[in-house]
Order: sequence, then C-alpha cells, then structure tokens
Amino acid sequence: MEVYATTHKGLERITAEEIQELGGKIEKYGNGRVYFKCDERLIKKLNYHARTCERIIVLLKSAKITQLEDIYKEVKDIDFSFIRPSESFAVRSKRVGVHDFNSMDIARVAGDAIIKSYQSSRKKRLKVNLDSPDNIIRVELIHDLLLVGVDTTGDKGLHRRGYRVYQHPAPLNPTIAAALLRISNWRPEKILVDPMCGSGTILVEAALMGSNIPPGRIREGGKLTFNHKLKIIGIEKFRKHVKGCQETLSRLGIDFIKVIQGDAEHLDKYVQEADLIVTNPPYGIRVGRKSIIKKLYHNLLRTAKNILTENGSITLLTPQEKILKSTATKLDYKWTETPIVYGNLPVKIFKLTQEGRTWP
Ligand code: SAM
Repeated sequence: MEVYATTHKGLERITAEEIQELGGKIEKYGNGRVYFKCDERLIKKLNYHARTCERIIVLLKSAKITQLEDIYKEVKDIDFSFIRPSESFAVRSKRVGVHDFNSMDIARVAGDAIIKSYQSSRKKRLKVNLDSPDNIIRVELIHDLLLVGVDTTGDKGLHRRGYRVYQHPAPLNPTIAAALLRISNWRPEKILVDPMCGSGTILVEAALMGSNIPPGRIREGGKLTFNHKLKIIGIEKFRKHVKGCQETLSRLGIDFIKVIQGDAEHLDKYVQEADLIVTNPPYGIRVGRKSIIKKLYHNLLRTAKNILTENGSITLLTPQEKILKSTATKLDYKWTETPIVYGNLPVKIFKLTQEGRTWP
C-alpha cells in the first residue's frame, strides 16, 4: 500500500527515520509528508508506536492540479467501493499555498465527487456524517499537489497523547518534543535536563521513550511501567508550572523525575552534571522582550558549560536565530540547525556542542 505520514515541515527526515525503524519502506519526503510503502499491520503499528507522526494516511491519489474543477475530476476518478454501503464518510480538507478558493470549497467539491463516484460504482448514495464518520477522506492541496487518502488515524491526531492534566499557556507539541529528543541523540543512560520545562512535555516524552512505552499505550489508559533508572531533571521558574508539571508526572506514575523551581540562568545552582540539555525556551516575540531573551539565552548557554559532560550538547528550538547564533559564537559553541515550521512560525532546532573544549 502507498501510505504517507504527516509531520511538521522540516522534520520529515526525522520522521522518515522513525518510520523506517518501525518497518516502513521510505520512498520520498517533503512538505511535511513522508511517503512510504507498508501493509495494514504496519499501519496499525505506526498509529500505536510512532512518536513524531501526526497522521497516517493511505494514499488513494496524488495529482498536479490548477483549479477547483480539477479536484472534482480527480476525486471522482477514484474507486471508493472499499467503503461499505452502510458506512458514512466525511471529507477533511487542508490547503497550503495561494489559490482562489478555500479549504471549505475543496471539501464541498471533493464530497460531491465521492458521492458521484460511489453512485456509479455501487449504485448507492453514500451517507455524509461530519461529526462522527466511519471513514475520513483527507483531501490536501499543497500548492499544486493534490493528495487524496483515507485517514487511518482519525480526527484526533497522534500528537494528542492525552497525558496533560495541566494546561500550560505555551505547551510544546509532543511530536516536536520527541523529535528534539531524537535530534539530541538522547539515550536512557544519559542525564537529561530541561531547564525551562513548563508543563514537562519533553520530560514526559523522554520518560516514555526511555521506558519503551508507545504513545498508543497511554491512550489505552491503565498502569504504565516506567524505567526507574532514568536520570531526568526539569527546572522551571514559575511555581504554578512546576506544580502543573508535577501533577502530570504523578498522574502518569512517574516518581523518578525531579522538577525544581529555579532559574535557568543559574543552571549550575541546581544541577551538577548533564549529558544533554533539551529545551523549548521562551521565544520573546512580543515587543520589548528581545533584551530579556538575549540575557536568558546568554546566561543559559554560559552556565550550561559548567555542567555539561564531555560530548554533552544542548538541543533547543527558537525563532530567535540571530540572538542564539551570536550568543553561541561568543561562548565558543558550534552548532547544527534544522529549520521547521511550527504552527505558522518558522523556527529552528539548534544542536549546540562545545568548540575546542579541552578535557582533563
Ligand atoms: N515545553 C514546555 C511545555 O511543553 O509545557 C513549554 C516551555 S515554555 C515555551 C518556556 C518556559 O520557560 C515557560 O514555562 C517559562 O515559565 C519558563 N522560563 C522562562 N524563563 C525561565 C528561566 N529563567 N528559568 C526557568 N524557566 C524559565
């Protein structure tokens, strides 16, 4: 079967690696999509195990189109007879780029085409159920590329893990947290610190990864068995976030992660040693915040030097590329960068390592 997974634009290579590890045969990737071959068993496995994918979609058609009528023609050409006559369907549409129609137009036209196609093959009018359909047909237009497929994940994307009991004002998407951990090359035996942990998304994703608990297992509910040997520490400035984070951890049964109320600018006051720092710092996008961010990033990177072990690294994402790079240069870090699109915001994942450090 031809299948594709959706992810954040820029994370395709990371997601492709994950899918390959789980058994998919990657064909290509780009534009937040990873295309691969797999069977039904693997589709189930991916929906249960994948940490960096948002949706798994069986591809029915991909075509280049220029206008709305082309969508009708292309969709009408697809054989939808795999849908049982008693079942319902809904179209979920998405549009990226500049077009003279919107995504609701796409859904309407594609819905009409599906009904027409089904009537000619099965001589029956398919039922539409927008709230709780038996079949979700994804119709995505990415610039001029039309993708039509069956969504095997459902309306609730795989990023909705369901473990948060506290709503942070700026929580990190868990699929990005998992991608950060993959980029950082974290392994269960390494000491991990998130010095601005907020509600703890990176901490929880690490606890799950390090305990081999798939995200699907959390959605099922019930008791989880964690690897209590993991060395993971969270630091957060505000008490209410510390409390919220601790609530989420204790509900999951995680008692081995220490969450300290503290200031990331003085990291070495709370932590003596870290192999990896992985974090999602504030972006300081609001006016007047830049100088605060400059100071924060500078002091974080400076004090990190006192606790990072040999070959230690810092992985973080920020849209503040200039500030980060000038700070990192001043403090003799070298880095690799991965540009991604997060929401509508272009941000970069930086992995910083220490330049020219001599070790005793
Ligand atoms: N990844 C987190 C989550 O999923 O909930 C969200 C992190 S949020 C973008 C940044 C966090 O950094 C906020 O919770 C903020 O309170 C915290 N923060 C800001 N300045 C800090 C500092 N100097 N020391 C520690 N934490 C700080």
